[in-house]
Formats: sequence, structure tokens, C-alpha cells
Amino acid sequence: MPVEHIIIALADATLAWRLQPLGLRASERSPGATRKKVMNTNHYDFIIIGTGAGGGALAQRLAPSGKRILILERGTFLPREKENWNTNAVFIENRYHTTEVWQDSEGKPLHPQTAYWVGGNTKVYGAALFRLRERDFEEVKHEDGISPEWPLKYRDYQSFYDQAEVLYQAHGARGSDPTEPPTKQPYPQPPVSHEPRVQEIYNELAAGGYHPFPCPVGIKLNERVPWQSQCIRCDTCDGFPCLVEAKSDADNNCIRPIFELPNVTLLTDAYVAKLTTNPSGREVTGVEVEFEKGKRKETYAANIVVVACGAINSAALLLRSANASHPTGLANSSDLVGRNFMFHKAAIVLSIGLKPNPSKYMKTVAVNDFYFGEKDYPYPMGGVQLVGSFKWEMMKGEAPPFTPPVVLKTMKSHSVPWWLTTEDLPSHENRVRWIAGKGIQLDYTPNNERPYQRLTHRWKEVLKQVDGGHTYVPEEFYLKKSIPLEGVGHQNGTCRFGSDSKNSVLNLDCRTHDIDNLYVVDASFFPSCGAVNPSLTIIANALRVGDRLLERLK
Ligand SMILES: Cc1cc2nc3c(=O)[nH]c(=O)nc-3n(C[C@H](O)[C@H](O)[C@H](O)COP(=O)(O)OP(=O)(O)OC[C@H]3O[C@@H](n4cnc5c(N)ncnc54)[C@H](O)[C@@H]3O)c2cc1C
Ligand code: SF4
Repeated sequence: MPVEHIIIALADATLAWRLQPLGLRASERSPGATRKKVMNTNHYDFIIIGTGAGGGALAQRLAPSGKRILILERGTFLPREKENWNTNAVFIENRYHTTEVWQDSEGKPLHPQTAYWVGGNTKVYGAALFRLRERDFEEVKHEDGISPEWPLKYRDYQSFYDQAEVLYQAHGARGSDPTEPPTKQPYPQPPVSHEPRVQEIYNELAAGGYHPFPCPVGIKLNERVPWQSQCIRCDTCDGFPCLVEAKSDADNNCIRPIFELPNVTLLTDAYVAKLTTNPSGREVTGVEVEFEKGKRKETYAANIVVVACGAINSAALLLRSANASHPTGLANSSDLVGRNFMFHKAAIVLSIGLKPNPSKYMKTVAVNDFYFGEKDYPYPMGGVQLVGSFKWEMMKGEAPPFTPPVVLKTMKSHSVPWWLTTEDLPSHENRVRWIAGKGIQLDYTPNNERPYQRLTHRWKEVLKQVDGGHTYVPEEFYLKKSIPLEGVGHQNGTCRFGSDSKNSVLNLDCRTHDIDNLYVVDASFFPSCGAVNPSLTIIANALRVGDRLLERLK
């Protein structure tokens, strides 16, 4: 039977295809700690723990105030080296992931695909910069349950999204995505152009009655004056660190511009082991830091302490800081710290056809026609976007054993990789735990499976319709793989915010209900996660909280 068109569905390629624990990992090669100047004090106005999307944006917002700010980051600056763009190093050897081992609810080891660097996971992210949809802030009925209402609405976030797009110099075309929420501000940068094969697909989708639009992205690409462009539009972007530092990330766009300021101190290789409180438990009085894997310890203090370690590590830090006043973990009177852990359901649909696809940078098309369902299906299904870069080595883990590289290379050269995301719903039992002597445990039972399967199925149909209209490959040839729990790139929701201290960990300013000077400003605050990539919302929220903090310390 002639094979004209193969479609392979693989769950979460950029995350899932990195599970082989080979070779050296990041922390084994970390350059020495960066000891940026330390003020002659251990007491600061603000301590920010973590420099990812949330911590970085917050530091950027607070720094110009002149307040004394200590930034603590367990990682170092990500080394610039040829391996940044080496697929084996990045995807097979997991060079830029932590070597930490977590466990699942049955005690099985998990090798988390998470990055501990200045810039956090934004060092390796795909830089798709989406706003949540206006309806995502409302209660939304899904086939498998309810996506809860946010206590703040899109209108409360609109101006902060505007600012976040400026901070990350987002490219895009306003008004081209039918589900995009309103704003008057144009994108700071024009949409990134499509390469010829991608343009062809874009045209076919539009001709087929769909609404493709330029994917909003944060890369420092100047197509008008190419010789001045920092970004060289390469094929090693999504999931890779950027060797030429042209990705808009929390390191490049937030930390580096401020960390030389006299009021800012950045300590790297600074793992925050514990937070201590005063006897009443109402104030954090100590931030206990371990340097060089615990060889050296210091304690710092601040008027305001902000945790921004990523949704899993922030919850873990609060849980392991339990004391007599907070016996089940800091700020955990609601018993919600660590609960409602979400990380999106995601899949890659790899369309392999007769036409070669020599494109290098492909994250230029997205489609939200199924985001809130379709004519005969009233429930949200999710979003579709192209994967930025796709390499044949990424298929090694999924191919039958001994598949020759030449086969994978041929498949890759004719493939178009699509990234599909469906919302997963908050569940009380999906949670982060801290197990003394062992560390992080993730309890997770998947939900909202049917819309996810439906989106995958529908997208395959769309591809068949627009890309030749036929396939000779039977359904059982489609390779599928569930998203692994290790693929926690989109982690969120473990310290949700709200007005009621019984139903939330944080108040609307992202201050913990229980502790007056303790805030959490990363993806933890999400009450629900929609189906768009989370970073722009994390950044916008951090900028919002930054304004509230500056008002508080006036
Ligand atoms: C491969 C991949 C692709 C992605 N693509 C996209 C995309 O295209 N678009 C998008 O919007 N999102 C994307 N994401 C997700 C995005 O990177 C995250 O949502 C975002 O970085 C989360 O921000 P955060 O501030 O919550 O946490 P992080 O960015 O994870 O930052 C947490 C920081 O805290 C530090 N830290 C942790 N524990 C401690 C401690 N105890 N002491 C001191 N420091 C600590 C960490 O080292 C890290 O620097 C992707 C993620 C991955 C992994
Ligand atoms: S496409 Fe641009 S931003 Fe992305 S890795 Fe390549 S040079 Fe860096």
C-alpha cells in the first residue's frame, strides 16, 4: 500500500522525548556560583526566590524603585556552549534538566523535565506568548467537569498583558486570532514571517475555512534589517537554550538588565531549603539558603519574601517549611498548598507527507478554531500551534527498536509537527507532596481526556482535508503516547489565589492568607489554566503583584 501521508500523534514531544537518562546532567557541570556583590546586610526590603517567568518579571518591576532586593536562584547562568544547539545533548542526554529524582504516588522514580537556571524554564521554552482568553477567566463547563472562575477578570489583566508583551518584545498580529481577548495595543513586533512550506499550509488552512493566525512569539528577530537581527532564525529553538541569547526569556529580558543595579543582589547556586517564621507564625523571619550542595549555609531576611520557584518547587518549599505554628506547611491552613496541580494535556501530531518541509523555524502558525469546541461539541477542546523546531533524534524514543537513522531522517524531512494543548482541570487529589527524606512526590490522575482525544482526532482530519485530502494509513498506524508525568513544563495551580482563605492559599495580591509578608508569584496562583501556554499570564500577574508590593512599601 503506497504511503502518501502518515500522521503520527505523539504526546508532548518536546517534553516526552527527553526521558532517556544518559550522560551528564546540568547540575553536574554547573559553573561555579555567581557571587554578584552582596550588600553589607542580611536584611533586605524584598527577597525573591527563583528567577523564572514569575520571579524575573517581578524583579524587573521592583528594581527601579531603589528598594534593596535580594534574588536567590538555585541554578547558575546557563552555560553558553555548542551543546546549547545539539539535539542529542538537549533531548537525549537531558543536559539542561535537573538531575533531581522525584517520585509518583506509587513511589516510582520521576525524572522531571525542569530547568534550574537563571531564567528558570524560560531558558528552554518555546517562547509562544499567549494571553488567556476572556472566557478562561470565567467558569467554563468542560466535558469532564468545571474549569473554575478566576477571582480577577481579563479586564484586570489587560494592561499587564500589554506590559508583558512589551517586556518580552512579542511578535504577532493583533486581531488575527478570533479567540484573542481585546486590547488596543498592537504587538510590539510584527508577526514572524512563514517559511514557504508553512505559508503553503497556512493558505490551505485558510482556504479550508479555518482561521490560522501568526503565533505570538518572543524571539529577537529583525526581518526588516536582517544584519542587525540578534536571532538568526535557526532550527534549534523550541526546547533548546538559545546559544546567541536571542530568545526573550526571564534571564535576558528581566534579570540581566537589572542585576548590576546597586540595590539588587543576585546570588546563584542558592538553594532555599526552608522558610522560618516568628512564634506567632504571621511573619517569615528567615530564609535559609544552602550553597554548593549544602556545604555552606546562610540565613537572610526581608520585609517581604516572595516565593517564585515554579508551581511544584514553591509548594514543596512551603510544605517542607512546616513548623509549630504551621504544622502542615507554611500558609496551609486551607490544606490547599500543593493541591490542584495542573500541567496541561499536550500532544504532538506529526504530519508526514510527500512534500519536503525544509523549514527551520516553524512556530509561526496557530489555530484556535476548536478552543471552545465546535458546532456539534459544546465543550472546550484546546489550541493548536506549530512546534518551533523538530529534529529526527526526537523520534528515537518512539520509533520501533533498531529503526535506522536514515528512516527517521526521511520522515523528519517530510514532516510538519503540530503542538496540541487541552486544558486539564484542577483536582483536589492531584497534588505535590513533600516526603521527608525523599523529596517531591507528585500524585496525578489525568482528567479531561475526551476533549483531548477529540482535538487530536479532529486535527488529523483537518490535516487530511487541507493537505491532500486523503491518507492510506490506517488508524492503527498512528503512534500515540500519553504525556508523561515528568513533562511538567506547564506546571501550575498549586497555591491558587482567591478571596476566601478557606478555598485559596493566596489573596488577590498573591500574598498568602496566613502570613503577612509572604507572597507567591509564579504559576502556582492559577485557579485554572486554559489551554494556552502559561508564561505570558505568569509574567503579567507578576507585574501586577509588583505594583501592589511597591504600593505596600511606599
Ligand atoms: C520545553 C518547554 C517548552 C515550553 N514552552 C513554552 C512556551 O512556548 N510558551 C509558554 O508560555 N510557556 C512554555 N513553557 C512553560 C514555561 O517555561 C513555564 O510556564 C514558566 O517558565 C514558569 O514560570 P515560573 O516562574 O512559574 O517557574 P520557572 O520558570 O520554572 O522558574 C522557577 C525558578 O525557581 C528556581 N528555584 C526552584 N526552587 C528553588 C529553590 N528552592 N531555591 C531557589 N531557587 C529555586 C528555579 O531554578 C527556576 O529558576 C515551556 C516549558 C518547557 C519546559
Ligand atoms: S530561532 Fe532565534 S531565538 Fe530561537 S534559538 Fe534560534 S537564534 Fe535563538
